[in-house]
Amino acid sequence: MKPKKLVILGATGSIGDNTLEVARGNRDRLEIVGIAGKKNFRKLAKIAKEFDVRHVAIFDEDAFESAIAESGSFPEGTKFYRGEEGLMEISSMSGFDTLVSAVVGTQALRPTLAAIEAGKDIALANKELLVMAGKFVMEGARRKGVKMLPLDSEHNAIFQCLQGERKEDVSKIIITASGGMFRDFTYEQMLRITPEMALKHPNWNMGPKVTIDSSTLANKGLEVIEARWLFDVDLDKIQVVVQKQSLVHSMVQFVDGSVKAHLSPPSMTFAISHSLLCPERGNPVCDPIDFSRPFSIDFTPPDTKRFPCLEYAKNALKAGGTATTAFNAANEVAVASFLSGKTSWLDISKIVGETLEKFPNIEPKSLDDVFESDSLARKIAREVAENSKHLE
Ligand code: MG
Repeated sequence: MKPKKLVILGATGSIGDNTLEVARGNRDRLEIVGIAGKKNFRKLAKIAKEFDVRHVAIFDEDAFESAIAESGSFPEGTKFYRGEEGLMEISSMSGFDTLVSAVVGTQALRPTLAAIEAGKDIALANKELLVMAGKFVMEGARRKGVKMLPLDSEHNAIFQCLQGERKEDVSKIIITASGGMFRDFTYEQMLRITPEMALKHPNWNMGPKVTIDSSTLANKGLEVIEARWLFDVDLDKIQVVVQKQSLVHSMVQFVDGSVKAHLSPPSMTFAISHSLLCPERGNPVCDPIDFSRPFSIDFTPPDTKRFPCLEYAKNALKAGGTATTAFNAANEVAVASFLSGKTSWLDISKIVGETLEKFPNIEPKSLDDVFESDSLARKIAREVAENSKHLE
């Protein structure tokens, strides 16, 4: 196989690190031609040197200027791309096959859509893309004939379980959740959760936003919405189960009652390697599960009473329109407010729930409608957060 040429959006983040690890282990099959990051231009320079990357995009204006001033630390002849425009340009330039979309948040939306328009396959780690605009994104992908390769561990697991199966034989998609840091906390303990506590995930090494989302199960809510779009299944066929060791990354149940599961240690490299190299299997970059020692795998249903964000996400998906956009926006506002110490951890789900109640849902006709709903939901969520400043 000719090496697959990649552009990585979010090369300096946690998915970026793991993607580079997979690329290091598979140098003959993966070639990085472009990288993009938000601010950390020195890390971008290091990556560019190591992988001889000649296209570099930087989102932050000041960081961009600093990178130009230190352009000597990048490979000779590097072309630089500035801001959101630059991210869109690098995502749709000629000379590469697959965009790794791993920027956190709504910033990934326009560049990833630009890549789809340019006919690039998408290895998708960003959640907001499908949660905000699933219908538009999947329509665009179908129209352009591009592959949407799931890079999140759960969706990649489902993707692997579905290989060789017929869609009509699927009875349930079962998404596993670690349950987060606080799965065994009582209400009283939940009252005293600090950002510091919430930022420590027991199994996974992830960025701060995803780690907090995992502690509230909002992350699982986002993944249910993503699964609906990626695999074109109705909500009633999607189930969430807590698998606290994070060894089973998701499962598919078929009409005959059989279940296929995907297992690996909790490292993102397994999903990334599969997503970028399938149908081939990549070289191992991480130790596999050791079956010569005893270990157990537990399954328990999620407690949606203590973790209501999962239900809010499902309700938003049921409501349709831009309700899932509002769910995502409200959650982002609530997490930022918690991390800045303004509101409590319990307020996260409260802010999300109240925002969804107040949000005027619409059927979006265009992406502009989606962005308008996003801004409106953020405005409502900020007001709700302002009124719930009651760190108990
Ligand atoms: Mg995940």
